[in-house]
Amino acid sequence: MSENVRVRFAPSPTGNLHIGGARTAIYNWAFARRHGGTFVLRIEDTDPERSTEENTQAILRAMEWLGLDFDEGPGVGGKYGPYFQTERAESYAEALEGLKAAGGTYPCFCTPAELDAKREAGRAKGGFAGYDRTCRSLDADAAAARVAAGEPHVWRLKVPDGRGDIAFSDAVRGEVTFPVDAVDDLVLVRTDGTATYNFAVTIDDATMAITHVVRGDDHLSNTPKQILIYEALGVPVPTFAHLSMILGADGKRLSKRHGATSVEAYRDLGYLPEAVMNYLALLGWSLDGETTVISRETLAENFSLDRVSKNPAIFDDEKLDWMNGAYIREMSADELVDRMNPWLASAGLLTADEAIARREWLLKLVPLVSERIKRLDELAPMVAFLFSETVEIDDSARAKVLQKEGAGVALDACRDALAGLASFDTETIEAALREVPERVGIKPKVVFQAIRVAVTGTTVSPPLFESLELLGRERTLLRIAAARPLSTD
Ligand code: GLU
Repeated sequence: MSENVRVRFAPSPTGNLHIGGARTAIYNWAFARRHGGTFVLRIEDTDPERSTEENTQAILRAMEWLGLDFDEGPGVGGKYGPYFQTERAESYAEALEGLKAAGGTYPCFCTPAELDAKREAGRAKGGFAGYDRTCRSLDADAAAARVAAGEPHVWRLKVPDGRGDIAFSDAVRGEVTFPVDAVDDLVLVRTDGTATYNFAVTIDDATMAITHVVRGDDHLSNTPKQILIYEALGVPVPTFAHLSMILGADGKRLSKRHGATSVEAYRDLGYLPEAVMNYLALLGWSLDGETTVISRETLAENFSLDRVSKNPAIFDDEKLDWMNGAYIREMSADELVDRMNPWLASAGLLTADEAIARREWLLKLVPLVSERIKRLDELAPMVAFLFSETVEIDDSARAKVLQKEGAGVALDACRDALAGLASFDTETIEAALREVPERVGIKPKVVFQAIRVAVTGTTVSPPLFESLELLGRERTLLRIAAARPLSTD
């Protein structure tokens, strides 16, 4: 493929960037990178009621979070701009003038009520329920005079007589054919002079020199209409690639019912952008049918449309969790500290100054947690005991562990074993505590559970000896002393 590949992601800012849109963006990005092409971001903000600046910003943030850098678009610029549809009215007007000159469009004066009646009549006859082309046969001069007199009108595409069925070769779905009579003489420009959706998209793709239109298959039925517009304009038709839907585990189209659907919601749930990117890339594409952990570089080097599946993909939260956990485990300690810190900060455990001053300590925390969490939101609750002065002991842990026979004696022995240690590091702590059960004649499990509950407040925690080192001697001994009166012997 030539180096002139130009693709675009064209979200409508009527909501956040959701999972399906993000996958479309990823495929476009990867396709552009794979071919050394250009990835364009175009904001389709023509629906004034539903498009908001806030949504545009949310989409841009989500793209940035995923690392989907675009070569042309809002904030980046480019020679095919502007990149907001609301700023491109001039090019739609120009295209309309071109079509008028070429005889590819005609004004239609039918009122909405008349159109409704025509549709009804068509339907009643069991035939085509679209526009019956009344105004197509008006005398051209008479029509021009009515336009000049200011009579309300739209501009329709004059689908050429004798045009056969509309066939195209979709890069994902293969040969696709639409019967030409399923396509109306569609409206290109409305009574108020604004371009319709299909007209705007086609003009944009044509004037932005887009070579491949990679988008969701909810747009498949727009494609024959857009092909006819390209033909009327006399410009090359791009290659289309329609991506199948993403379904929830229940086989229904992914929606809010299935929980989080926006990219930023996944960010807020503690997923890593590289894991989300990897997971979404594999929802409908595969490298070789087996590799699951694929870096963005590998994706950018290997992505191809012919490995995109025609079948709907199923979104599986468990697989995403697994993948996120895999990325967390593989991450360097330094990197993970950088990712952890905002989570610790937002849980009120760490200030920005402490994040710097306690970096060494935080690096030691990494191996305690990296194998135990799948998402970053699990982190703060798991390690909060290491940041606080004291801990509150969970009621059931107290009943189950601290009030067990021998727990009090075990706590006293642990305190004695730790109080006099020359150094308070994991190894020394472990050696000292391992001697306790035999010395006091209490089962190891009782001893270790007792100190764990005393120090962490619960029965489940990161590894004990390492945790004690990170907690430090002073707080360890204070916690043992505080827990002691809760035990009965
Ligand atoms: N703006 C459309 C959407 O958000 C996409 C149009 C296209 O990709 O052709 O669904």
